[in-house]
Amino acid sequence: MILLLYVSCTHKYTESFPINNEDSSFLNFNSLPVTMNQNILSQLQNIVGKNNCFTSQEDKITYSYDGTPLLSFLPEAIVRPTSKEQVSQIVKLANIENFSIVPRGAGTGLSGGSIPVENCIIVDMSRWNNIIEIDTENLTVWVEPGVITATLHAEVEKIGLFYPPDPGSMNICTIGGNVAENSGGLRGLKYGVTKNYVMGMEVVLPNGEIIMCGGKTVKDVAGYNLKDFFIGSEGTLGIFTKILLKLIPKPATSKTMLAYFNSQTDAGKAVSSIIAQKIIPATVEFLDKTTIRCVEDFAKIGLPTDIESLLLLEVDGHPAVVEEEAEKVAEACRQNNAVEVKIAQSIEEAMKLKTARRSAFSALARSKPTTILEDITVPRSEIAVMLQKINDISKKYNILIGTFGHAGDGNLHPTCLTDERNKDEIARAEKAYGEIFEEAVKLGGTITGEHGTGIGKRKYLHLVTGTTAIETMRSIKKAMDPNGILNPGKIFEL
Ligand SMILES: Cc1cc2nc3c(=O)[nH]c(=O)nc-3n(C[C@H](O)[C@H](O)[C@H](O)COP(=O)(O)OP(=O)(O)OC[C@H]3O[C@@H](n4cnc5c(N)ncnc54)[C@H](O)[C@@H]3O)c2cc1C
Repeated sequence: MILLLYVSCTHKYTESFPINNEDSSFLNFNSLPVTMNQNILSQLQNIVGKNNCFTSQEDKITYSYDGTPLLSFLPEAIVRPTSKEQVSQIVKLANIENFSIVPRGAGTGLSGGSIPVENCIIVDMSRWNNIIEIDTENLTVWVEPGVITATLHAEVEKIGLFYPPDPGSMNICTIGGNVAENSGGLRGLKYGVTKNYVMGMEVVLPNGEIIMCGGKTVKDVAGYNLKDFFIGSEGTLGIFTKILLKLIPKPATSKTMLAYFNSQTDAGKAVSSIIAQKIIPATVEFLDKTTIRCVEDFAKIGLPTDIESLLLLEVDGHPAVVEEEAEKVAEACRQNNAVEVKIAQSIEEAMKLKTARRSAFSALARSKPTTILEDITVPRSEIAVMLQKINDISKKYNILIGTFGHAGDGNLHPTCLTDERNKDEIARAEKAYGEIFEEAVKLGGTITGEHGTGIGKRKYLHLVTGTTAIETMRSIKKAMDPNGILNPGKIFEL
């Protein structure tokens, strides 16, 4: 049933927010993709084998979209290479035959990073799911890029180790996608984001050459830091075939709590005052009234639906420190008018609360047909101000926005609940988001904290970086990928 619906609507890129007419240089929205020459398809089949090359309409539709709303486009083919040599040969063929390549992990991206472009093939890396080596002496792990993030968590935790980055999508997204987007998660405040854990990688460059960068040494200043350069490159500069990650010891214990507030401003101020006390909780997540109601309706975990906002907080570490910090965090919430602070009584209860938070996007998505989730970040001290701005903008454009996010990082996800069939509403949503981005930047923030620029945010990138920086990025891309083979048109126009 779902597949049939997509058959009817995804024969071409859907022209709508966040892409508009001004942005149409990205693709010719009115044309169907050109059919790839049979000779190229045969060459691809020769490289990966017939069983790993897919060209049926059903397969193309399945790979035509990711987690981003309102955007889809059919690829010419999908290939599943099984070795780095095959990836390299595919990229070399693309340069000779002039087609594009979109690398893809699990397709959960929220900025259109793995959505096909014109005359492209998808290189599906999701089957590369081996954990190659856990090195307990150096505290590192080599993984293939298709390893699911939560699978890695579970494997290393079995031996008392810890890989902190935990995007809300961790049960389905891949490490390759995480590195390409430099993904964050609920534990970002204390432990940082993906880039803080990448120590090295094997990459197929846009010309098909294979390089290794980084390694197990903690110190290495030999040459340019290419490893960091690829992190967050959104599939535009290379295809990762192997990734080396740092591990840390698993925290001995943790305490999870919920603080309820009758005002968003109080919740925002509580975050600032927790940090000002020099306590760095592992997690400080914010949910507004709309999100709380949707989550409760979805997860039924007994959240009060008459409050304005809540904070989900977790402190972890040595048991004695955890006790003390938990009390100080609770006190900071009470001093900022929390109406109640509840401490989870068991690991199961804590897991239930965190799972409910991770379901926020899905919970909101149930209330209206089209959910547009955004990703601004402001300095932590400006959270209360930004929340107020989002409310004002939501009222101004008469758009229902539920906001949740990693408040400890200043990373908020204002989520517009809308219906793509209502063109007027979509146009108002686009204006509302434009203003939200501008306000975030005015407060010293950014238009995306973790989901990437992709297609969705291209036209707002200059607000944060300025045009000279975009020119610099463009010249790097041109130098490395003169034929514009890898994920062209993502982040900026070529
Ligand atoms: C419910 C939900 C919750 C989410 N929560 C979070 C969150 O808390 N934090 C967060 O940061 N994000 C979150 N996301 C966004 C998304 O899950 C992340 O961006 C994730 O890292 C994408 O991984 P993926 O495997 O799905 O990659 P894809 O969506 O397949 O690809 C993402 C990008 O990575 C590139 N890529 C993939 N594999 C490779 C490779 N091997 N080599 C080079 N490039 C590659 C693609 O070309 C694309 O540009 C969420 C998404 C959903 C749907």
